Amino acid sequence: MAARRPETIAKQARARITRIREALARIDYLCSGTLLERTKMCGRPNCACAQDPAARHGPYFEWGHMHAGKLVHRQVSAQHATVLRRAISNYRLVRKLLRDWEVETERLIDAEQDSQT
Ligand SMILES: [Zn+2]
Repeated sequence: MAARRPETIAKQARARITRIREALARIDYLCSGTLLERTKMCGRPNCACAQDPAARHGPYFEWGHMHAGKLVHRQVSAQHATVLRRAISNYRLVRKLLRDWEVETERLIDAEQDSQT
């Protein structure tokens, strides 16, 4: 297989970086951490939740994330949980896009070096 020309590699890397930047520009909500969904027993002996796990109260949503170096847990509404789920999945996507951007930048730098020699 013939080696691709450095100009071709650089062009492809630039095109991929453009797509990464466009994907980043589309991201709105961004949160780190994890979202926990749990149900609770209220402790009243006559409540259905005392006997039946399916009758437990909730679901309740708890968002755990690092804030100023400390792990913070916050109770959030079901509505907020929906937004948070998206924000947390966006966070993973941004990290992936940054890793891809790094890889493409290295490719670009190498190709630019090669085309100068
Ligand atoms: Zn109960």
